[in-house]
Amino acid sequence: MPVFVEVALPVPLRRNFSYRVKDEQQAGLQIGLRVKVPFGPQQLIGLITAITDSCDLAPQQIKSVTAVLDDAPLLPDSLYKLTLWAARYYFTTQGQMLSQALPVALRKGLEAAPQAVVEYHLSPEGRNADSSVLKRAPAQKKLYELLLANPISQDDFTTQQLSKAALKALEQKQWIERQQKVLSHDLSWRQQLIMNESPHKLNKQQAVAVSVLTQQQGFHCTLLEGITGSGKTEVYLTLLETILKQGKQALILVPEIGLTPQTINRFKRRFEVNVAVIHSGLTDNQRLEAWRQARVGEAAIIIGTRSALFTPMAYPGLIILDEEHDSSFKQQEGVRYHARDLAVMRGHLEDIQVVLGSATPSLETLQNALSGRYHHLELSERAGAAQKVKQGIVDITSQPLKAGMSTSLINEMRMHLDAGNQVLLFLNRRGFAPALLCHECGHLHECDRCDAFFTVHQGLNEICCHHCGNQYAIPRQCHQCGSTMLMGHGLGTEQLEQELIKLFPKYPVVRIDRDTTRRKGSLEQQLKGIYMGKYKILVGTQMLAKGHHFPDVTLVGLLDVDGALFSADFRAPERFGQLYTQVSGRAGRADKPGKVLLQTHQSDNPILRDLLKRGYGEFARSQLKERQQALLPPAWHMVLIRAEAHLAEDADAFLARTSELLPQDKDFEIIGPIPAPLDRKAGKYRRQLILQAKSRQRLQTEFERVLALIEQIPESKRCRWSIDRDPQDLM
Ligand code: ADP
Ligand code: ZN
Ligand code: ZN
Repeated sequence: MPVFVEVALPVPLRRNFSYRVKDEQQAGLQIGLRVKVPFGPQQLIGLITAITDSCDLAPQQIKSVTAVLDDAPLLPDSLYKLTLWAARYYFTTQGQMLSQALPVALRKGLEAAPQAVVEYHLSPEGRNADSSVLKRAPAQKKLYELLLANPISQDDFTTQQLSKAALKALEQKQWIERQQKVLSHDLSWRQQLIMNESPHKLNKQQAVAVSVLTQQQGFHCTLLEGITGSGKTEVYLTLLETILKQGKQALILVPEIGLTPQTINRFKRRFEVNVAVIHSGLTDNQRLEAWRQARVGEAAIIIGTRSALFTPMAYPGLIILDEEHDSSFKQQEGVRYHARDLAVMRGHLEDIQVVLGSATPSLETLQNALSGRYHHLELSERAGAAQKVKQGIVDITSQPLKAGMSTSLINEMRMHLDAGNQVLLFLNRRGFAPALLCHECGHLHECDRCDAFFTVHQGLNEICCHHCGNQYAIPRQCHQCGSTMLMGHGLGTEQLEQELIKLFPKYPVVRIDRDTTRRKGSLEQQLKGIYMGKYKILVGTQMLAKGHHFPDVTLVGLLDVDGALFSADFRAPERFGQLYTQVSGRAGRADKPGKVLLQTHQSDNPILRDLLKRGYGEFARSQLKERQQALLPPAWHMVLIRAEAHLAEDADAFLARTSELLPQDKDFEIIGPIPAPLDRKAGKYRRQLILQAKSRQRLQTEFERVLALIEQIPESKRCRWSIDRDPQDLM
């Protein structure tokens, strides 16, 4: 009987593809194995999704599988199901989703099983040989003596710098035998967990949280809402101890790995287990190795960023998402999946606990916690000796400013610095100045490909567009009037740093933003300098706001955040609340009291007042009510369709036709086509269509119904378009 397979391929076509399986390939055929197949002129690697004995294609049209690459499915059943579910939810193909889930090396066809290593032993002849004949061959003698003690693996030749020529010589004498040794996995941690460090004695709230979490069995999702410095990480560690002692693995997802070396070290320090760290800085092979260790259970703890969500575990026990509100968990290109939502689904499929931790939970998660869908645990006090932070507003309306700093901020800084403490200044704009201004004609220099101003980078002598990467040497003359009186307009971190050096010559300044941390290892160096007290003034963007624990920082200043309050995005207040709270949370984390000063032109802004007066928790709850009234997420469900084209009309026409295919009634709203907030980027016009539905299910079915029709709209060929479910920003 003929055998056919359906194969999911990483191509943008919304279907799987059929292939014939040759007789000799049929043994052990299973769903989930990788196959190599011809696709047009190329060979692609895909996953088998079905096995059938008939095929609709005409016999001459159907091609054969080139090779079956695995003998066992690559992903455990739970993850295979997760990718199926996600493909449907995000309106993409199984092939695209699977290629998100697999390490690049596997997508290129590498072996999934750990490879056997070659070992060299002395042969019986070698053992009985008279080694004095090696007197004149020191390299051979050295190798021989090592082999007398132990077999040597191929790796040892590189790591111990042994001579390959000596190996060959001994092999020719037939003193050496090769042997394939299959790697055995070290799973000893499952029998006996060794702790390297004794935990803190938990405070009462931490202890309650841990006891609730350790008593839960099977799938549960819990929001751990704990203010900054309340000891959430300590709760994770204690819970982890229980999970590891049961012989189960834990997956910990964090926002951006480079930003949290401290956290990773805390996990590594506490337990004597193998920790696989998965992040974008790894080579394909390193990533595959970490993936393998997790899959066989050798890595007890897996820590990683967004895409580590798909790492298989042999003994799944727990998933933690730290800083669950962080927007980096949402992929912003290609398949726009949200690692938090998929983590909850994965927990469900593997029947294990999921813990979402944050000081500033997203409104989505908060709603689930308040409605009882998730459990809800709170830590409202700072752990250990740390106290609550004092906060103040500096109204800078018509006040003199020095590089954006008011006199009261400067005076306060001096007090904290003179007392031997560190000061952190937050400014979310890198570069020297966010625009280049002509002093004579007022012209602001704009990117020729985007609707955006160039940022001035003085150190690099460049102007650069942060949206498309376009860059030029700083012009000498104004593009409009030819004047040479050009100046930076507005304030960036680079300029602030320069001013601070002049203003506080005694106190070393460190700047942390994407420009100063580009080189590998430089962020670690800078952070180390901060911990060691080498730097006294810390200037930085969001990178400095996230998760760090700087015990000597007692003052935090936020320089210019008004822009964040006025963004058109409906999430702007939520994001502002999170940012403010996280930045402030860097102050006074140890035994010294902390203070936060927020400079603003908007001291009466009700959102700001509300946030400062009642704190993020209350603020977020009232924001949630407003979203409900406005029928916005998370109350309603949103899909954003983006289209970009060289001609704005093409994008508009495509979206207008799309909207005609969809219903419009009191439970299903369509907004647009409208220009995107940045309506021209890299030379293309950008338009969007926003769909909002009361019911998630209806959104799903309506959309699935029209998807194929949307693809047939003639203008779709003239645009680049994409679907973003649960969009996190409307840019
Ligand atoms: P979070 O993750 O909520 O920001 P951490 O777990 O990092 O908080 O804790 C903040 C600081 O307090 C850390 O230095 C941590 O070692 C310390 N800490 C946490 N729990 C306790 C405790 N129960 N007793 C003493 N110190 C603690
Ligand atoms: Zn000019
Ligand atoms: Zn640009």
